[in-house]
Amino acid sequence: MPPQASANLSVSDRVLAGLSKLSLVMRHESWRSAGQRGLTPTQAQILSILAGSANPIGPKEVARQMAVTLGTASEAISALVGKGLVRKATCQSDGRAIVLTLTPRGRREAEHAGQWPASMVDAVDALPEHDRAALLRGLIGMIRTLQEQGSVPTARMCVGCTYFRPNEYPDTPKPHHCLLIDAPVADADLRIDCAEMEPAAEEVRPRLWSVFVNGQTLDNQGPGHRRSPSKSRRTIHVNK
Ligand code: SF4
Repeated sequence: MPPQASANLSVSDRVLAGLSKLSLVMRHESWRSAGQRGLTPTQAQILSILAGSANPIGPKEVARQMAVTLGTASEAISALVGKGLVRKATCQSDGRAIVLTLTPRGRREAEHAGQWPASMVDAVDALPEHDRAALLRGLIGMIRTLQEQGSVPTARMCVGCTYFRPNEYPDTPKPHHCLLIDAPVADADLRIDCAEMEPAAEEVRPRLWSVFVNGQTLDNQGPGHRRSPSKSRRTIHVNK
């Protein structure tokens, strides 16, 4: 693109061009790393999904989380079963449903599959902390919009979680609060895939979001009221 044309691009165009370059690197690295282990990126992704699921899930849920067709997911699952990495079993609560579990070897492979490409880790780590947190906020906003449009599967993010209390402590390094761990959280602590996330009620989610982006605090009126003091401190297991 000639320099003049590129200078005329809007900020949105340049953000999208940047995301496109990053996604090229991610795609290339996923093929390379999964290929080295005899997997396709789809198979590697399924191993990660199964490793990160709090409860056993079946092929339909795998397809939903990956935003692919059931046929594509089923084909990759069959290949993983053939490789001895995944087992199919009958669901205990519904005898007609199939659930998927990782074999011990599948669990080991899932650990590798869940690792981000080193070049991308270095690139993110090279950012100043403030930029990293700002980037995370921006990405969360984009994912949320895509989720609302139905373009990506539901993500288990803080901003839609019943335990999230945005801006409880304005003008502090950790302005938000997670009721589950009963502790303040910074922008940089916000989760995109938290295993403990409980979706907030439909009427609460827009309010949580608006309060979060506008830097306000929840009041005690209406849904999603401010936190009430809790004595319990629980540990939380979260994914990246
Ligand atoms: S850390 Fe997990 S449980 Fe806490 S608010 Fe975020 S998504 Fe919810």
